[in-house]
Amino acid sequence: MKLKWLGHSAFELISNRGLNILVDPFIQANPSCPLKVSDMHPDVICITHGHADHYGDVIEIARNNPNLMVITNYEISIHLQKEGVHTIGINCGAEIKLKDVKIRMLDAKHSSSLDFNINVPYAGNPGSFLFTFDDNLKVFHAGDTGLFSDMKFVIGDIYKPDIALLPIGNIFTMDPSQAAIAASWINPKVAIPMHYNTFPSIEQDPAQFKIEIEKTVPDCHAIIANVLETIEF
Ligand code: ZN
Repeated sequence: MKLKWLGHSAFELISNRGLNILVDPFIQANPSCPLKVSDMHPDVICITHGHADHYGDVIEIARNNPNLMVITNYEISIHLQKEGVHTIGINCGAEIKLKDVKIRMLDAKHSSSLDFNINVPYAGNPGSFLFTFDDNLKVFHAGDTGLFSDMKFVIGDIYKPDIALLPIGNIFTMDPSQAAIAASWINPKVAIPMHYNTFPSIEQDPAQFKIEIEKTVPDCHAIIANVLETIEF
């Protein structure tokens, strides 16, 4: 599996059989992402919740890629279907399989609304995703979230991800210290920080996350990803 951070919470995951998954496709308005919407050719987009910095450019990417399938919560999927986008609307706990990847929606402690719309419609519960690849490698994308105990009792104890992508920006999510606690509960082999330094309001030093991880979870390797760097697992 190949993982590429596109800045903020946007990640590209490419399976061993070439399934290209884009998570939280915030491209055009993402100051950290040098790519253009026209550069994006995913097979699947997964959206954790409705906020503009996660929903991102899904409509434009879907228009450029007619076979694209979007996996998101039921409420956002209804909204996207009205825009002509192919979706599978799921909810917390459910798992579907596409090619060689199983995709499960799990919980997140946050909010979800289509905040770019003038009426700010409700957009279901915010979620996270667990991707299980055919070699049983498991990647957990936490979405936007605060700490919650099921990070230990459900995500850590039952699903046991190998790699955890954790927000550290504070203001809307956990900060580096809390994300290190999350890592101690989830207990992955690798933790990668996300959702920081995109805007002044979420400025954080990812080195602080690495230091906290080394203190709290010595068996976990914190990787500070560079935007567009491909990391192979
Ligand atoms: Zn959010």
